[in-house]
Amino acid sequence: MISLRQQAVLAALNRDTRKFERPKDALGKPLAISEFFGGYTFGLSQIKEKLSKESYDVLVTSVQKGDPLPKEVADDAANVIKDWGMSQGATHFCHWFQPMTGLTAEKHDAFIQSRTSETGQTIVIEKFSGLSLIQSEPDASSFPSGGMRTTFEARGYTAWDPTSPIFLMESVNGKTMCIPSAFTSYHGQALDIKTPLLRSIEALSKQAVQFLKLIGDIDITSVHATLGAEQEYFLVDRALFATRPDLLMTGRTLVGRASTRGQQFEDHYFGSIPSRVLAFMHELEQELYRLGVPIKTRHNEVAPGQFEVAPIFESAELSSDHNALLMDLLPKIALRHHFACLLHEKPFAGINGSGKHNNWSLSSQKGDNLLEPGRTPHQNLRFLAVLATVLKAVFENQEILRLAIASAGNDHRLGANEAPPAIMSVFLGQNLNEILEQIETGKDIESKTESLLIKLGASKLAVIAKDNTDRNRTSPFAFTGNKFEFRAVGSSANIAFPVSILNASVAQAFEDMTKKLEKKIQSGEKRDDAVLSLVKEVITETKMIRFEGNNYALDWTTEATKRGLKNLRTTPEVLAAVNNESCFQFLIQQNVLSKDEYVARYNIILERYIKQIEMEAHTLLEIIDTHVFASLESELSRLVTSNCHQGPRGLKAKKLYGDLSQAKEDLEKEFTKTLDEHDELKKAHLLSDKVLFNMQKVRNLADDVEGFVSDQTWTLPKYRELLFIR
Ligand code: ADP
Ligand code: MG
Repeated sequence: MISLRQQAVLAALNRDTRKFERPKDALGKPLAISEFFGGYTFGLSQIKEKLSKESYDVLVTSVQKGDPLPKEVADDAANVIKDWGMSQGATHFCHWFQPMTGLTAEKHDAFIQSRTSETGQTIVIEKFSGLSLIQSEPDASSFPSGGMRTTFEARGYTAWDPTSPIFLMESVNGKTMCIPSAFTSYHGQALDIKTPLLRSIEALSKQAVQFLKLIGDIDITSVHATLGAEQEYFLVDRALFATRPDLLMTGRTLVGRASTRGQQFEDHYFGSIPSRVLAFMHELEQELYRLGVPIKTRHNEVAPGQFEVAPIFESAELSSDHNALLMDLLPKIALRHHFACLLHEKPFAGINGSGKHNNWSLSSQKGDNLLEPGRTPHQNLRFLAVLATVLKAVFENQEILRLAIASAGNDHRLGANEAPPAIMSVFLGQNLNEILEQIETGKDIESKTESLLIKLGASKLAVIAKDNTDRNRTSPFAFTGNKFEFRAVGSSANIAFPVSILNASVAQAFEDMTKKLEKKIQSGEKRDDAVLSLVKEVITETKMIRFEGNNYALDWTTEATKRGLKNLRTTPEVLAAVNNESCFQFLIQQNVLSKDEYVARYNIILERYIKQIEMEAHTLLEIIDTHVFASLESELSRLVTSNCHQGPRGLKAKKLYGDLSQAKEDLEKEFTKTLDEHDELKKAHLLSDKVLFNMQKVRNLADDVEGFVSDQTWTLPKYRELLFIR
């Protein structure tokens, strides 16, 4: 009889490349991307075309002010939206939101209302009320609230967020119209990840505008964060995926001997894309283009089976929604091509994990990138001031920024193969770093401000703008010419959370900078001198956060400790560090999270961490019994039958059996101890220090067993099959 593993390998080998319909014009000619881009979306500009001017104006004003929409206007808008949705073939609508699970959530309703006819029959008509557009009340009790509400008052409301376009979700047999929404409790607390993001964007704009006014940029009326997230992922054949209980249950392999070939030849990176994968990418991109997601780049990543997709940057709130959509579509479309898409940060031991590089910058309402060194002395002074503000933000909020990327999955990645470590630091590049050093140590800066600026500005900063080559891929937070790249974000994360925290940190830093600058100016310093001396102070104070070297090197850990930087290696360590109000006060001050809302998120990170490791431990124990021991026992009885059990292989088998039994027993003992621990943070520490440690010991032995038993006997798809068959 052929085993499940062998069947899966055969299935994976026999896949055809899937063909799909490309959008075509009436003559059957394939459409260019620009001709169908955004075709499945309906945003404010389309609503404007269809709605009366009065209604539209009321709609826009209430969006800007956050006021409730009058019923008549909501009804008008709902009609326009319903007509569009139905003309596209949608039968249902849903409020699409992002609860604190980090995933997206949807509850669908048909566009119908019923009434009873005179003869007692039920008749339905298509209808979509203003109320259904602007609000819905999903049963909120099953979403995590982090303790913000008890189940008896589990009411949660989703509210239409008109800043993000309405879109169609297509499946094989129908279309659903999705209404991007925020999700709040009855008392108005944010139960989602999107609401704090919107608040952080507002805070950032407000604080940045105040600071920029003070330095003389009076024409800047609003500032928004821009974001482009590069998404990494793995593809594994779905049959092989489904026969691995660990991948299926936990998203990562808990056992698995390294294949003899890994990423050592570095031949996968930017190599030609395998045809079945390319077919998948084409279909993914086509769906995303329809949804208005500006996907630009696709390529192989460093590890075998690993790929990347990246969009053109957009305003942070839109880009964040688009990344959520991308993460929703990736696995769905992968399945059509018989792939499982792994978004976990570290699905395979010993090879690279997956990150999500968040490229982030600040743009004025005129479209000027504030992190772009400019042409005039003033633009360069502004650039230096904004840069110093970001350095200050990262320096002062290391712990919370680390919290923003903390998860059980990302713990495995940070500090492992080619991933930034858990220590927050900022890379600026040689040129820029030299300039900052010059400002810091500059002998005659105070007296010759103007000439220094010209010296800095005109020639040298222009060079930085071009010199994009000496980038440091090891840094968790790297300046890349005209933007920062927050590289420590995990591939499975909802980016709205880390971006909210980053925005809030920078907003706080701007507020502090404004206060300091006001003082300097009041005490009689000339404005430009005051700005430069503030820049000097800030870059000196925050010097410790700057690191130009190799973040992967071991001696960086020692160096960072000397500098007093935090090295919070695991989620429980982070949680222990951020459990005091001075750490998160800035979130409250910037109105991004209230204390309750912060605590709720803290609790959810903790709870999810515990659940994840517990699930992994249960899954590993089951795999050891039902696969690893089973394989070893078959091997032993084969050895007995062939009378080899007294020979070296027989002895080795028995030794493995004994060692694995012992390791498993140790793991069970440590795991049981955690069940008696009722302090959640202590429990998380036990899981990360003791349970994960023992899981690793069990795994090492299981991997030895895999390398020992005959290939026929081993029941789980091996790394070489998972990584190289596609
Ligand atoms: P890389 O060499 O890192 O791939 P790219 O220039 O291709 O660099 O940019 C990577 C990502 O950064 C893309 O998503 C791009 O749109 C985004 N990006 C570029 N400029 C900005 C900006 N000003 N703000 C935010 N993201 C940006
Ligand atoms: Mg990049």
